[in-house]
Amino acid sequence: MKTVNRLCLVLGDQLSFDLASLQGLDRERDTVLMVEVMEEASHVPHHPQKIVLVFSAMRHFAQALQEQGFQVQYVRLDDPHNTGAVPSELQRWHALLKPDELHLTECGDWRLEHSLRDCGLPIHWHSDSRFLCTRAEFADWAAGKKQLRMEYFYREMRRKSRLLLNGDGTPVGGAWNFDADNRKSLPKGVKPPYPLNFSADPVTQQVLALVRERFASHYGAVDDFNYPVTHADAQALWQYFLDFGLAGFGDYQDAMASDEPFLFHARISAALNIGLLDLRQLCNDVESAYWAGSVALNAAEGFIRQLIGWREYVRGVYWLKMPDYAEGNSFGNTRPLPEFYWTGETQMNCMRQAIGQSLKHAYAHHIQRLMVTGNFALLAGIAPSEICEWYLAIYMDAFDWVELPNTLGMVMHADGGYLGSKPYCASGQYIKRMSDYCRDCAYKVSESTTDNACPFNSLYWHFLMRHGNLLRSNQRMGMLYKNLDRMPEAKQQALWQRGQMLLDTLDNGQSL
Ligand code: FAD
Ligand code: SF4
Repeated sequence: MKTVNRLCLVLGDQLSFDLASLQGLDRERDTVLMVEVMEEASHVPHHPQKIVLVFSAMRHFAQALQEQGFQVQYVRLDDPHNTGAVPSELQRWHALLKPDELHLTECGDWRLEHSLRDCGLPIHWHSDSRFLCTRAEFADWAAGKKQLRMEYFYREMRRKSRLLLNGDGTPVGGAWNFDADNRKSLPKGVKPPYPLNFSADPVTQQVLALVRERFASHYGAVDDFNYPVTHADAQALWQYFLDFGLAGFGDYQDAMASDEPFLFHARISAALNIGLLDLRQLCNDVESAYWAGSVALNAAEGFIRQLIGWREYVRGVYWLKMPDYAEGNSFGNTRPLPEFYWTGETQMNCMRQAIGQSLKHAYAHHIQRLMVTGNFALLAGIAPSEICEWYLAIYMDAFDWVELPNTLGMVMHADGGYLGSKPYCASGQYIKRMSDYCRDCAYKVSESTTDNACPFNSLYWHFLMRHGNLLRSNQRMGMLYKNLDRMPEAKQQALWQRGQMLLDTLDNGQSL
């Protein structure tokens, strides 16, 4: 009987023991290949902590596979034979080991997958079963629809997973979505749990030293690294959230507070995206917490919706629409990203808080990303490619398949409204309502046109005025344009002038 030797490439975001391409490998005969490459670590200036996370988690995963009896070839970044890119490393190891078969689970990143598909090697591709919805299933669901709506996709995923459903298939609680209950600001006296800390073991220490030396020019602090790099630690973080975070997650999901970078959020996105946590287990645990009576339905449903709704939905859109999706720029924005996105040096307290914690922890929660840094980029007309690169670089959990649709589609509305029905634009009033940031700000949120008026206010109206031709016909924007039209001409002019002055300031390379 002919024996087949297989080589299975495992990428840095595929660190799951039940990865499709790892199944059926012969532990004695077959080989797992893992490579740390410069191209993936530096095609955008990734936050140093993110590079630490991926390399350290890869090294721990390789060790765990070896302990389970797998043959692993592991190429470190500083290996003198390392060619620096995934396809060339695969070609090198293919020539060295001469396997009969090459196995690979589909990539998260379109760019990488296509460079591997084009590298001239006969790869057996496996569907990524860590997601609930396959690429093909999403394409079937989206077929014939001009615009997609996450809410309808989410209902399909609820039915498919049977999460929070009654026996007759109706949603528990009588509604699919309890988002309206999840918009409270943080009241005085409510204290979020302390973040769970992780100390760096010798493997992580070694990677920290490597990253300090090789990626010193990347923005972001490396010394505050505090993330799980093994499956066991990721489970500990998850259990901590179930015990102390989930109950407050629903009510305060959209809240923001000074010097509280994490609030009631789980901090699990990075671990989940690289394979240290399992989506189905997370959802089942949350559902169990609801049935056990330890969390309310708005918390459980809200959390499950993020995972099987938004997360799966953005992935579906990405694989359906790439590569053209990345070129979307429906407002024709050309403004470069202001330098303060990389330094946090701005007088706008909300921006300083959100950017500052992103540089320190490689983390900001959803509303900070959407309604502070994202909202500002939308209102200021930043070029989508520049703001997308920033999000991809700065966040611990950022991988192209999830970052790009969230930024280009949800935040910048640059896909012309394919992913979301309206832009999430807001004035400073929204930030005031959902946070305490305005209290300590150099600008006045109650003012719009004076010298120290909140920049978000005039930029908001400036945005509506300059894009009226595209947005007036959008039914969901009708009320905003009615408000604009009711405004006295002089007020409109003053808002336009103040907004224009702020944009000119940015164009002169100055901060706000
Ligand atoms: P929690 O608030 O506790 O939420 C639980 C989980 O739900 C998250 O861990 C995440 O896996 C999932 N989730 C929630 N919202 C989304 C969403 N919109 N898309 C996908 N998953 C979601 N998330 C990433 O994982 N990677 C990214 O690169 C990324 N880029 C983003 C860029 C922008 C502009 C915006 C607005 C959002 C982005 N998100 C991204 C989604 C979301 O902000 C993060 O998943 C979340 O902040 C991670 O923190 P957490 O684990 O504490 O999440
Ligand atoms: Fe942000 Fe404006 Fe509030 Fe300052 S006043 S924190 S710029 S919303």
